[in-house]
Amino acid sequence: MTDQPPPGLDVGEPTIARAYDALLGGANNFPADRELARYATEHIPGLRESAVENRKVLIRGVRHLAGEAGLAQFLDLGSGLPTAQNTHEVARARNKEARVVYVDIDPLVRVQGRQILGGDEAATVVTADVRDPESVLRHPDVTRLIDFDRPVALMLVGMLHYLSPEIAGSVLAAYRDALAPGSHLFITSLVDTGLPAQRELARITRESLEEGWARTPDEIERCFGDFELLPPGVVHTALWRPDEPVAADELTPGEQLGMAGMARKR
Ligand code: SAM
Repeated sequence: MTDQPPPGLDVGEPTIARAYDALLGGANNFPADRELARYATEHIPGLRESAVENRKVLIRGVRHLAGEAGLAQFLDLGSGLPTAQNTHEVARARNKEARVVYVDIDPLVRVQGRQILGGDEAATVVTADVRDPESVLRHPDVTRLIDFDRPVALMLVGMLHYLSPEIAGSVLAAYRDALAPGSHLFITSLVDTGLPAQRELARITRESLEEGWARTPDEIERCFGDFELLPPGVVHTALWRPDEPVAADELTPGEQLGMAGMARKR
């Protein structure tokens, strides 16, 4: 953990990226972020475990995208602060040619990410707002590494719940439209299956970080538009292509907070 922010960085208020980093036990967070993470974990049973599950499904998803799906271009929206096994590392273990653009609204992600990437010419970090698809899709660092005439892996992992219901439909449609056939969309999200903890987490997130929306499984599924939803569909993250069998009726409270799904553009 550090309490020495990079010059010019306001750390008085928590940010999504840093509070999530605090939840995961990372080093890129400050007292306000840790306080929010502490408050949220006290109120939401299994929250920390759910963040860990989300990282695990990200790794399984990227392995599939770079492996079986054969994709070499990754656009990771709401990528978060670098942690263990980042998208470019996981993808390149399956496909050495993988090119990765990380996009996040938090400027600290770019500072930390660029340190980790060093002189990597096939991966970069862009500071941009996912709610403004044009600014992402036309960003020179995005167009330098991603050829939208070829299939792309578009990821919104742990990110969809920061898009409000008013804008999510049009924002997602803009990204889907920009992709070539064969592209894949991988989404994980806070879900609303009627459990109080799910709505409470959305409320705490909205109050502290401005955005925070839990969606029903059907609402998450609609985010894939007319893409072909791949097996096993939209399911709790622990059940999405697990490495070891998981009993669907024995999920812990943390495992019930999120869902994942992947779909392919026809
Ligand atoms: N994708 C990573 C993962 O699953 O481990 C990080 C998930 S973290 C919960 C959500 C990330 O989305 C944060 O880093 C946050 O800064 C970013 N984010 C939230 N709203 C955003 C926006 N409008 N534009 C870009 N990034 C955003």
